[in-house]
Amino acid sequence: MKDPNFQKQYINGEWVPSSSAAMIDVEDPVAMAPCARIPRGDVRDAERAVEAAAAAFPAWSKTPAVNRLRLMQRVVDFMNENCTRVAGIETRELGAPWSYALKKHCLYQLSRIETYMRLADRVLQPRRTEGARLILEPHGVVSCITPWNYPLGQIIQKVVPAILMGNTVVLKPSTLAPLSACVLAEAFHEAGFPKGVFNLVNGCGGVLGETLVKHPKVAMVSFTGSTEVGRRINRDAAEGFKRVCLELGGKSPDIWLPGMSDYEPACRKLFDSVFLNAGQTCTSLTRLFIHESMEPDVRALFRKMLPLYPAGRPDDPAAVLGPVVSGGHYRRVAGYIRAGVEEGAELFAGRVPGEPAEGYFIEPTIFMNVKPEMRIAREEIFGPVLSVLTYRTVEEAVRMANDTPYGLSSALYGPKEEVLKLAGEIHAGNVFLNDAGRDITAPMGGFKESGIGCESGKAGLMQFVGIKSVFDASSF
Ligand code: NAD
Repeated sequence: MKDPNFQKQYINGEWVPSSSAAMIDVEDPVAMAPCARIPRGDVRDAERAVEAAAAAFPAWSKTPAVNRLRLMQRVVDFMNENCTRVAGIETRELGAPWSYALKKHCLYQLSRIETYMRLADRVLQPRRTEGARLILEPHGVVSCITPWNYPLGQIIQKVVPAILMGNTVVLKPSTLAPLSACVLAEAFHEAGFPKGVFNLVNGCGGVLGETLVKHPKVAMVSFTGSTEVGRRINRDAAEGFKRVCLELGGKSPDIWLPGMSDYEPACRKLFDSVFLNAGQTCTSLTRLFIHESMEPDVRALFRKMLPLYPAGRPDDPAAVLGPVVSGGHYRRVAGYIRAGVEEGAELFAGRVPGEPAEGYFIEPTIFMNVKPEMRIAREEIFGPVLSVLTYRTVEEAVRMANDTPYGLSSALYGPKEEVLKLAGEIHAGNVFLNDAGRDITAPMGGFKESGIGCESGKAGLMQFVGIKSVFDASSF
């Protein structure tokens, strides 16, 4: 893909060359070959972007909300006009099947922008307590650092609420899937946003990260990615008392209780969560807990449902999942599958991946007879791999489900009264009961080592402001 903007940075309202001549190849995981190049930005790029964002902040923070919303509507319009282009990008940099790329990586993510706009209008209405007026003040420059798994979506979740609430932004996307960020930068440009409100710097986190977190003119860091990198960012940000919002890893449990007549809907939801996007979803329900009496029926159900999840190339209309994102990630996921076999779990579906030949494809993989101490039950794999554990009592299931440093998502399937009762026992930021789906106006955040703060909904917008109480006797 030879879009000239891919090879530039977007700083202070202009596409500019990086201060560094070095480039990074973006790999197509189906072709296992480079499909585009982006700059390997250096510290000077990060500094220029932070300075531009800092210079733009005073005016942008005073811009009336109605003007901010009007400009953001133009971003939505531009992105809608470019949605097949974005979907095409995600078939290349992620290898996503075409229909998944269009619906989940693009259109669904654009609906988040519109939701934020609708909610921002309400959040920004005047507020008061019994004796004070409350003013919501933006923090200043927000560094947004994002992962590759839903490239556009993770960016929208930060950049849009930050800017709507009056902050200015420096975005650093993942080097593995950075291209849709360039289309979003074009959208901000074409919409006519003032210079410096939105800046895009491509490059390695290890090089740019320190400036984007520690620079004295950065007020907040909004990060989505691994717990390991999040821990480091949290430590670095603490020194400067910067605000942080951290959306990190997960190893989410799904508990099936006995007593339901049909487990097919639960299986569909589980497999969607673990296998779609090749398992590269932070909220994947990768640990299934079943009562020991259910095992024969669950095996039969899995055999029936697995053929609905074929992996294939983006242009194959039958493909439900694509490859994992890169050669490095393929080897990491393969290493976990190997470890599962070596630790004695039963490889019920899938196989230990060998050397990749035609794309980094990993079949939907299911381990039965998994024990809680195994690595495949404890560590985030971030691939299409499900670990099934059995329990004797519900108390044991809940204890095992909570026995992890993570607390991102969870699901419970069973008789209504029982799942309602258990929802309060699970230590996670999200609990899905029976057939409920996500509501994008609800907050989405993790407990424990899955993060600090949240995204989505009004609570997601509120991350990007401080609340000032004005005590003014004359107005009461
Ligand atoms: P990652 O932590 O390796 O990288 C995320 C981003 O951080 C990238 O842009 C990377 O370049 C940058 N980075 C790397 N080192 C840095 C440093 N020292 N300082 C600053 N930035 C640095 O994560 P990933 O592999 O891109 O994404 C997968 C992870 O993201 C998984 O753990 C997944 O669970 C998590 N995730 C969480 C959520 C959520 O909402 N909780 C959503 C999506 C993904």
